[in-house]
Amino acid sequence: MDFEAVIGLETHIELSTVTKMFCGCSTVFGHPPNTQVCPVCLALPGSLPLINRKAVEYTIKVALALNCQIQSFCQFHRKNYFYPDLPKGYQISQYDLPLGRNGYLEINTEDGTRKVRIHRVHMEEDTGKLIHSGLTGRISEAQESAVDFNRCGVPLLEIVTEPDLRTPEEAKIFLSSLRNLLQYLEVSDCNMEEGSLRCDANISVRRGDMDELGTKTEVKNLNSFRFLSRALQYEIERQKKILAKGGVIRQETRHFDATTNRTTSLRSKEMAHDYRYFPEPDLVPLEISDQWVDEGRRSLPELPGAKRLRFMEGYGLPEYDAEALTSSRAMADFFEECAKRYHRPKIISNWLMGDFTSLLNATDTAVERSKVTPEHLTEMLKLIDEGVISGKIAKSVFEEMFNTGRMPREVVEEKGLTQIADEEELARLVAEVIAENEKATGDYREGKGSALGFLVGQVMKKTRGRANPELINRLLRERLGGS
Ligand code: ADP
Ligand code: MG
Ligand code: ZN
Repeated sequence: MDFEAVIGLETHIELSTVTKMFCGCSTVFGHPPNTQVCPVCLALPGSLPLINRKAVEYTIKVALALNCQIQSFCQFHRKNYFYPDLPKGYQISQYDLPLGRNGYLEINTEDGTRKVRIHRVHMEEDTGKLIHSGLTGRISEAQESAVDFNRCGVPLLEIVTEPDLRTPEEAKIFLSSLRNLLQYLEVSDCNMEEGSLRCDANISVRRGDMDELGTKTEVKNLNSFRFLSRALQYEIERQKKILAKGGVIRQETRHFDATTNRTTSLRSKEMAHDYRYFPEPDLVPLEISDQWVDEGRRSLPELPGAKRLRFMEGYGLPEYDAEALTSSRAMADFFEECAKRYHRPKIISNWLMGDFTSLLNATDTAVERSKVTPEHLTEMLKLIDEGVISGKIAKSVFEEMFNTGRMPREVVEEKGLTQIADEEELARLVAEVIAENEKATGDYREGKGSALGFLVGQVMKKTRGRANPELINRLLRERLGGS
């Protein structure tokens, strides 16, 4: 039987405001437990919340960038549930009047551009963090648990898609496009390791010929791209097997275990009425004027899609390059800084997509933290053009710059990497190579053109890559005569 998977994502993003959603405490990550707390975020009696204006502005920007309608009258609600990481006994969230709805995000898949509809964008507050003692860090095996309220009250954005995704790959592309967009907007660092971007996945499976959606399960807290796709793969297979045997899917919340790559049942699904939502009486409704929305619109930076087009039209880059370079704002900015200093965009692009990206990946370095700057790269490209170094040597110069941050001229001089352009010296090496390689020279003279490449390689070897290959080529041809 032919089954199709249906996926919808709920993403939580911590906003990078300086202070929390409803109090003045700092949001900085990584400080000692319970050092960033106050009566408001600890829910001491008599304390009252106050809405963080910056968080609302950030949310407006996100809603606009996701093509949402902005609610001019919106409201906060209390979502009631008991858990020790939530000192108030409820979370201040948004319910039927979220700030943004009915938007979409365009993603680029192998089958072209697709619109993934956004159901809603709303504001809420993060919870504290429970730290379970024991080796696994899981609650079921812990002797005791401690609670850190530093994260409690950090502004949180929830972005919910419609069930428009069909494969784990698509879900991954969506999440990475969303992350890219949020980084362009500078509203969150979207650091999955530190938990500032977290994702819950809703999954169902249906027979290919059905219009209705199947019963879904929700897998909680997938905190990396790898976990997202593994969890989806497992869950899709699990549901298919049940359906193929004529069974039914239970609507429930599941947990993904990264050590076994399986999902397990956590609890049966809670319903909205379980939370006893009601309007937050400690906060006035939030009115968002047209003027405020206009200000948000004016403050939007150039977004990834527009930048990609401009890179193609303005710099004459192929679509592939434009896509790769704009897939992070930092990389796009790096490219443009280079393009101001050096006149051949495609050459810059080749270095950024090639050596630069591989070294960044291999060392797990962010573009922003790279020791190689646009000055480094463009100075090196000029050295190649001036004939000071060969393209081949440039690769090792680049690596050295990447590791040490030294300027290319310094590296080249200190390591004696300048290209040998002295014809006499090269002619001597060419003569040596010809004498040492009777077979190849014979082949060449008998018309086997490919033997020349071998001989060029031999000269290169003697100079440790420092010769100009075109010059060697010419010298060899002159010596050997012929074609
Ligand atoms: P809930 O009440 O469980 O939160 P919602 O209808 O609000 O459910 O949807 C939550 C998420 O689940 C959304 O991202 C939505 O797109 C997705 N979703 C809803 N129904 C399905 C389904 N049948 N299969 C897969 N995803 C679904
Ligand atoms: Mg849900
Ligand atoms: Zn506080």
